[in-house]
Amino acid sequence: MADDCLFCKIVNREVPSEFLYEDDNYVVFKDIHPAAPVHLLLVPKTHIRSINDLAAGDESLVGGLFTLAGKMAVQEGVNASGYKLLFNVEKGGGQEIFHLHLHLLGGWQSKLREG
Ligand code: AMP
Ligand code: ZN
Repeated sequence: MADDCLFCKIVNREVPSEFLYEDDNYVVFKDIHPAAPVHLLLVPKTHIRSINDLAAGDESLVGGLFTLAGKMAVQEGVNASGYKLLFNVEKGGGQEIFHLHLHLLGGWQSKLREG
């Protein structure tokens, strides 16, 4: 838990949020300002500032984020239509909340549907 970290507060239920998924290592909730019809944030419970701060031993935690993304895509019904996964890294990369999280964006009308 890092002081004044919004996502630590959400993980610890000090700030209310509706979890679409929770286990011992991760929570998933909707982005408050969605940039796509489906926009989820996949958040490790451990406070890690950004991809820059990963250390030896974090591989399974990060790998698990991608496995979870696949599961959440099925849950949200975007696995077949497709989706994007995104890490913003530090200010120049668009990161605003300095607690590692993976964006899952999808749910657009597929131009490929007819094809
Ligand atoms: P990033 O720019 O990668 O740090 O992403 C942070 C994301 O968190 C942004 O897309 C915000 O819209 C989102 N966000 C900020 N506050 C909240 C909140 N209380 N609940 C859900 N999403 C939030
Ligand atoms: Zn945090």
